[in-house]
Amino acid sequence: MKIKLIYPEWGNFPLKYRRYIHTLGLITIAALTPPEIGLSFTDERIEPVDFDEPADMVAISAMTCQAKRAYDIADRFRAKNIPVVMGGLHPSLMPEESALHADAVVVGEAEGTWENLVQDFVGGSMKKFYKCVERPKMENVSWPRRDLLAGKGYIPMQSMQVSRGCPVNCEFCSVPGLFGTSYRGRPIKEALAELEKMEEYIFFVDDNFHLAKRRSYELFDGMAGMGKKWTGLAPLAAAQDREYVDRLVKSGCWLLYVDVGPWMSASFGEKRAGFTTAEKHLENIQRFHDAGIKLIASFVFGYDYDDKGIFERTVEFAKKTGIEECEFLILTPYPRTRLHDKLEAEGRIIDRDLSRYTTTNVVYRPALMTPDELYEGYIRAWKEFYSKDVIEETDDGLVVKTMSQFPIDPGVFDRMIDERYRPEDKWVESFVRRERLGK
Ligand code: SF4
Repeated sequence: MKIKLIYPEWGNFPLKYRRYIHTLGLITIAALTPPEIGLSFTDERIEPVDFDEPADMVAISAMTCQAKRAYDIADRFRAKNIPVVMGGLHPSLMPEESALHADAVVVGEAEGTWENLVQDFVGGSMKKFYKCVERPKMENVSWPRRDLLAGKGYIPMQSMQVSRGCPVNCEFCSVPGLFGTSYRGRPIKEALAELEKMEEYIFFVDDNFHLAKRRSYELFDGMAGMGKKWTGLAPLAAAQDREYVDRLVKSGCWLLYVDVGPWMSASFGEKRAGFTTAEKHLENIQRFHDAGIKLIASFVFGYDYDDKGIFERTVEFAKKTGIEECEFLILTPYPRTRLHDKLEAEGRIIDRDLSRYTTTNVVYRPALMTPDELYEGYIRAWKEFYSKDVIEETDDGLVVKTMSQFPIDPGVFDRMIDERYRPEDKWVESFVRRERLGK
């Protein structure tokens, strides 16, 4: 018996290198699959789906922006009488919709659910829905099957998860919908044992593991001396704690992805209660920089208090800080979030094509500008922050060809060329050449 695992194309995100970072969902369910069942894995972001590959079942994982493509793929396999199972973020939030294109839908986290589904499938009694009723204990999380990623063309950096769930519960975020609003951490000893077996570069996919400071200290102290270099998401305010930053550096952190958040938008020129000021952001950025940690900052446009001047003010601020890389996003009301419910109630959703829910399109009516003004300002921000030679405007949207923050040595790039290089990715080629020549 063989199961084909598919991660569908996700549309255009300007920072092109993103599609070359592997995700964990499907290789985690691969680890939960009985060893006697054969598996293949296709990441459509970097390779085509082979619709003729023999398989007894197809399993597709999808976020909202991938849902439309996931349904197309599912329909094609089902037309060939191959059963399709769907899971991941979007099917968990919209199970009834996904069930129109699937023989079974996994709702919520896979541990304990996927194993039952496979058992039923083998026994010929697969049901339509498999719901995760009790959140899995993090002690029991399996190590993902990273062997399935070999030779695929990813940036040589392995993804890792040490926690799930986020109690912050922002109105626009769908993470709490899938992983819940309480923080659940893996035993640090277990995480360190996994890290020991991993390659040099690590990407922590956790949305907010810095929330549990004592646990983070344990992790950082355990990683110190391991020789790993890691990156991940962090709140900018973490810079306020000098001891924390010091331990981050000693553990091998070289780059953090920080969400400057809605607070930034509102903090120009005026002080609002509850919002961090621009001066405080500047101080935090400086602290990280002084410690040698580079930053990728994300800025979201389109909040109800964002006026037409937000784009220029943001770029001006970003340039002033010396932030190494920026990502600009358009606020997106993902289904089953409080933001979606609010905009729906106000009759402000103007586009229901889920493939456009990528944070690169305007799918609702903003409060203080028109949808066109929001989109044009967003494009302007990218163009004003990045130099012309790394920006390309394509029919699919902007492509920003930079990986400048990944200090990958030439030896690793040699491997990337030999095993993973694909001729159509000219930008990777030029980046590699530049690295090799040290220019
Ligand atoms: S945006 Fe970040 S902090 Fe907010 S709920 Fe989502 S994961 Fe938590």
